Amino acid sequence: MKARKRIALVAHDSRKSAMASWADRNKAILSQHDLWATGTTGALIGERTGLSVTRLMSGPQGGDQQLGAMIAEGKIDLLIFFTDPLAALPHDVDVKALLRVSTLHETVIACNRATSDFILQSPLLNQPYDATDNDAAGSTEARP
Ligand code: PGA
Repeated sequence: MKARKRIALVAHDSRKSAMASWADRNKAILSQHDLWATGTTGALIGERTGLSVTRLMSGPQGGDQQLGAMIAEGKIDLLIFFTDPLAALPHDVDVKALLRVSTLHETVIACNRATSDFILQSPLLNQPYDATDNDAAGSTEARP
């Protein structure tokens, strides 16, 4: 990962307002990085903060899968995903797949506001970072 991070932002419906407030509060930090988002989340964040966000499709329409593909291709470093732990969603399988591929590829993942705050305050946010674990025999390192 380079010092300038490629950050994906996603929020389920009940968490969208929390995501917009969080992004607004942190817009000075977020403006130093490149931002992607699923459709509705991206529109909301753009309106609220004025930040430039590249919007993918809406999550239930395939946006989560688009993000998963970007992560598999090494195009996203951080996933800030405000999930709704109390609702069953029609695209639950896409959410699960997105989190699985993110875990596999050492993407930095936050599923709630507190973890997102900790990530934004990490000194690693503005430094290059090598996620390769050279000692990890039998780990989840990507296999050929
Ligand atoms: P949305 O998608 O930002 O387009 O609402 C998020 C989701 O529900 O996965």
